[in-house]
This record gives sequence, C-alpha cells and structure tokens, in this order.
Amino acid sequence: MNESNSNQRDKQFATKLIHFGAEVDKTTGASSVPIYQASTFHHHDIFNPPEYDYSRSGNPTRQALEDYITLLEGGTRGFAFGSGMAAISAALMLLSAGEHIIVTEDVYGGTYRLLTTVLTRFNIESTFVDMTNFDAVRDALQPNTKAILMETPSNPTLKITDIALVAGWAKEHGLITMLDNTFMTPYHQRPIELGVDLVLHSATKFLGGHSDVLAGLVVAADESLGRRVKQLQNGIGAVLGPQDSWLLMRGMKTLQARMEHSERSAHKLAHWLSSQSEVAQVYYPGLEDHPGRAIHEKQSAGYGAVVSFDVGSGERAKAVLSRVKLPIVAVSLGAVESILSYPAMMSHAAMPKEVRHERGITDGLLRYSVGLEDIDDLIADLEQALRF
Ligand SMILES: *Cc1c(COP(=O)(O)O)cnc(C)c1O
Repeated sequence: MNESNSNQRDKQFATKLIHFGAEVDKTTGASSVPIYQASTFHHHDIFNPPEYDYSRSGNPTRQALEDYITLLEGGTRGFAFGSGMAAISAALMLLSAGEHIIVTEDVYGGTYRLLTTVLTRFNIESTFVDMTNFDAVRDALQPNTKAILMETPSNPTLKITDIALVAGWAKEHGLITMLDNTFMTPYHQRPIELGVDLVLHSATKFLGGHSDVLAGLVVAADESLGRRVKQLQNGIGAVLGPQDSWLLMRGMKTLQARMEHSERSAHKLAHWLSSQSEVAQVYYPGLEDHPGRAIHEKQSAGYGAVVSFDVGSGERAKAVLSRVKLPIVAVSLGAVESILSYPAMMSHAAMPKEVRHERGITDGLLRYSVGLEDIDDLIADLEQALRF
C-alpha cells in the first residue's frame, strides 16, 4: 500500500472510489492510470534494479488496481488475477496435501468443481456444510482442517452465513478464513472488518459491472498472509493483464452509483414478485420473511441486486426465459444490463438433480440480476412474460 493510498483510508466509501491514490498519474497528471503495456522493464543501473522488473511479478497498472481493491476492502495487500476462478485457485493453493477445508454447501459451482475434481488429486479434502447452521460448521472440524471458505449471500438461494461468528470460531482453531464477496462487493460488505483473513472476488460481476471483462481479486487482511498470496500469484502466474486492469478500474469507479440504483430496483422487484400468484417463492435478503435477514443486516449495509424466484415448474421457467424482452438470458450477474439466469440448465446443470432439489435449486427457479434499466419497465416486461 503506497503513501497516498493510506491517506484515503479515513474517507467515505464514495470518495475512496474516485480518489484511491493513483487517480492522477504522478508523471504527467493524466486523469486515469496509464496502461503499462509492457512485459519487462529496463535496468538503468544493474546494481539498482527497477521497482518493476517483469509484469508477471508486478505491473504498475495492475498494482494501481491491487491497491485500489485493498483500500476498498480495508486490507493490507491485494492481488489481481485473470478470472475469479484464477483468484480462488491461488487462494486455495495456500493448502497443502493432506489438509482439509470446510466450505459453504452452496458455494459457486466453479469453486465446487475445483475442490472436488482438481484439488482432490492433490489430496486436499473438503467438507461442504450448510453454514446457516453453526453446529454443522463446528461438526465439520477435523484435526487436519486448515481453512474455511464462506460465501454469503450464497448462490442462487441467497442463504446467509454469520460471518463474525464463523470467523471468530475459526480463529480459535487457527484456520485461515476466506470469503467470496462477489455478490455484496465492499460497498455493502467488508469481511475483513468482521475478522476474515482473505476476501475473494469474481470482479467479472459487480466490480467490473459491464459484462466486458473477466477478472478476479484477492485481498489479504494481514501482511504475512499477503506475502504468501504474492508468492502464489507470481508462482502460478495467472495474473490480470494491464488492459483488463485498466478496464476494471474504469468500471469500479461507478460501483456505488450502480449498486445503489440496482439495489433499489431489486427491492422493488422482490416485493412485486412476492405479490404474484404465479410465483411460488422469492429469495431476497431484504424481504421481511427471509430467514437470514437479521444476520445479514448485522454484517452488510445492503441487500444487493440479485433476486431469485420460483415460477413453479421447469416448463414455466423456460416459457418466462423465452418471453422476456429486456434482460439478457445468460449466466453471470452484476452488470449494467439486467441478466436472467436459469440455474437448473446453466450454473447448476452439472449437479445431480436430487442434490440440486435438496438445495432449493428447483426446475422452476430463476435468478434475476437487476441492472440499471427503469424498474417499471423491467417489471412490466416480467409481468407479460409470467402471464401466458
Ligand atoms: C462468477 C463467480 C465466480 C467465478 O468467477 P469468474 O470470474 O467467472 O472466474 C466465483 N464466485 C462467485 C460468487 C461468482 O459469481
């Protein structure tokens, strides 16, 4: 973390988003971070190597982004990767053969796949638990447990884990705590303030915000863990390039403005859906009857922009998907345009049907990521898609 960056720490979040330390180029005064499109750096003096020597190990554009996310999450060191999965992979490489990790049961599908098909080959063992149930978390502890990975709200049924409770318990047992903060972003939820060691992001979603860049971020709460992640980032080499680093920073500047708008709309959409007879169930942490609402409100400043709902059957879900005119029908979320996903056939298609149903991911479940369109237009569009 550089000096100008540390001066921003006491500012309000909206100010940090714009004045993050590298917003004005020191050399030219340029109003955005220069894109250092270089793989290597000249040694002017062989006895005094330059600050940056090779872009896998460090690149000034990527560094500006890494300092930016560190400031927003309130950590000590940040790291940018080529995708969310690259970031999560690097973080999980903190584990060694023979060790065990406890993971949120409805963790992101790619994380589940990595743990169950790749890391198992390295003899890294995982136990998936319903983290809304603290007893289940405690019961999963083994002598070789070294880490715990939370994701809250979870995807797509938006279950809530009590972050401080789990992190406090994990600390007592010497575990490294990790949290995938993709759905909330640091605008709404700052896990490091709640005792988490490592914050993970698919920056492809809300942080980038425009469905035009794939990126992942890791922020470490303390320096010693930061050093270990740095070694993994440099060793594995799945770094984010300078162009995409710039594009991500460009998107992040409007994070608060986008989140505020989308959240207001998501709230309205969730309430509207709750009153529709065609809709069997609505999942949104801002709804009065959401089982995790009180815990969520304790640890987050907002409810986010993702609403999941069940239209009763696979047939009805497919009809809605083919009738909507405004949202794009796609995987992913967190963009300026609304995105309607169908977990049963998209993100969770690989999951056995019984397991999927057991986790509430029914054939009628749809996930709506609310964008920046006018909410009345989005509701009218969904209304015509539901009534057939
Ligand atoms: C999309 C996503 C990921 C994976 O990120 P990629 O950028 O697609 O690699 C991880 N976690 C969550 C919660 C996500 O939504």
